[in-house]
Amino acid sequence: MKLILFGPPGAGKGTQAKLLTKCFKLPHISTGDILRNEVKNNTDLGRQAKGFMDSGKLVPDTLVTEMVKKRMAAKDLEKGFILDGYPRTVSQARSLDEILETGIDTAVYLSTSEKVVVQRLTGRRVCSKCGTNYHLVNMPPKKDMLCDQCQVPLYQRPDDNEATVRNRLKVYLEESSGVLDYYRKQNKLENVSGDLDSEEVCKIISKNIFGSLK
Ligand code: ADP
Ligand code: ADP
Ligand code: ZN
Repeated sequence: MKLILFGPPGAGKGTQAKLLTKCFKLPHISTGDILRNEVKNNTDLGRQAKGFMDSGKLVPDTLVTEMVKKRMAAKDLEKGFILDGYPRTVSQARSLDEILETGIDTAVYLSTSEKVVVQRLTGRRVCSKCGTNYHLVNMPPKKDMLCDQCQVPLYQRPDDNEATVRNRLKVYLEESSGVLDYYRKQNKLENVSGDLDSEEVCKIISKNIFGSLK
């Protein structure tokens, strides 16, 4: 199963990817996580990407696609993968089809509204060890600001402030919405409401897309 999770920032892609990988034992590939790791390790790629990420702009296609190509060459993807955060432009979608040769199976579009996005992203807190996403109100950790699994402190991403969030939404509308048409034309787009409870969203994806697969 080669599955894409697509949608505006804050739609719940990372959260769904984590829930689905638990059920279906598929690797979760998040371009945002890979990039943040490169920044943390101060690599060449990280230094090139940082400015774009901090201001909520897209990292140039060539850099991100090269990174995805490398990840796709790894041996652990024989059964498929859940790809979160890529493609974000039509050019990236074309590159992915070239990399995979046979293309993807399904792109799940998690739809939601600007109001929900701003509430979710400004309240998002992330585990610094395992990357699990929490939310101050919607999905708080059991103990004050510590990850339920790792017991390490949660942090707020530097791009999750309101001004940058609004900019990311603008960038999404301008540069990423073409990806919807791209997969619609291939008959591979599945629309799921991102506004539902996260367990509910996961159930719908599991039932409609994975079917009896388990
Ligand atoms: P994305 O990867 O699309 O940017 P996340 O999965 O990180 O989105 O979710 C953004 C924020 O919203 C996180 O703080 C997360 O805990 C919260 N969240 C995710 N899914 C839901 C949901 N279905 N209902 C309420 N809050 C959610
Ligand atoms: P979100 O949780 O808001 O969907 P991500 O964690 O996926 O955000 O991405 C964070 C940032 O990393 C983006 O704002 C962008 O700068 C960069 N990035 C991630 N994936 C891509 C991509 N496919 N193309 C270009 N930039 C990307
Ligand atoms: Zn953790």
